[in-house]
Amino acid sequence: MRIDIITLFPDFFTTPLQSSLLGKALDNQIAAVNLVNPRDFTTDKHRRVDDEPYGGGVGMVMKPEPLFAAVESLPILPRREVIFLSPQGQPMNRNLFWEFAQNFDQLVLICGHYEGIDERVMNLVTREVSLGDFVLTGGEIPALALVDGVVRLLPGTVGKPESLEAESFEDGLLDYPHYTRPAQFRDWKVPDVLLSGHHGKIEQWRKAQQLQRTRDRRPDLLQNLDNLSVKDDNSKGDGL
Ligand code: SAM
Repeated sequence: MRIDIITLFPDFFTTPLQSSLLGKALDNQIAAVNLVNPRDFTTDKHRRVDDEPYGGGVGMVMKPEPLFAAVESLPILPRREVIFLSPQGQPMNRNLFWEFAQNFDQLVLICGHYEGIDERVMNLVTREVSLGDFVLTGGEIPALALVDGVVRLLPGTVGKPESLEAESFEDGLLDYPHYTRPAQFRDWKVPDVLLSGHHGKIEQWRKAQQLQRTRDRRPDLLQNLDNLSVKDDNSKGDGL
């Protein structure tokens, strides 16, 4: 997969793109990230990328010309999505990341700043994606979250593909608690069942923990599961 990030602050990405699993995946050419600074596409002497808003008001707006020139300088791969990171977009979640990982060869990520971008840039954009219901100063952190979340799902990034399945949200539930050595740390002991070596019981315990945690922390996820199973039951009924 090719990922182009249009950003006024390419340095922001240097360390994260070299670190940990993401760094390794890029080293192994599972994906390639290309950083493009719209300032390099300005034609005026001051290299301006922003200007005052028409109609007045506070803040500055990113000008359309450098953003268009930056995006138009890129090669176009067959299955391409041009994504504007925006608090007004579709919230990032597990399904969206799987969709990007499985269906696209190229993601172009546009990071906004200031009050945002000139609305005409939306003519380039095929999708708006949000990190959540809050406003950050720029699109770089959301872009990085998207890159990390999508590259993690590409074949080869995570050593054992099963570990992708055993994560929060994959089966509609939160993950179970994890423990490692020592078996006792201060006053806290690892639950006996995990030391028992009884795989059936461990699996049962983990599933019960997943359900309990999801009920306590994210009951909305259980509601979604209920709706899905009702739908499944109905569709089975239709089919019979
Ligand atoms: N005026 C915009 C609004 O209220 O929708 C917010 C502008 S924000 C200060 C500057 C830029 O940061 C946005 O253009 C966007 O690229 C990015 N940004 C801020 N919050 C974000 C979020 N929750 N998700 C994705 N991008 C975000």
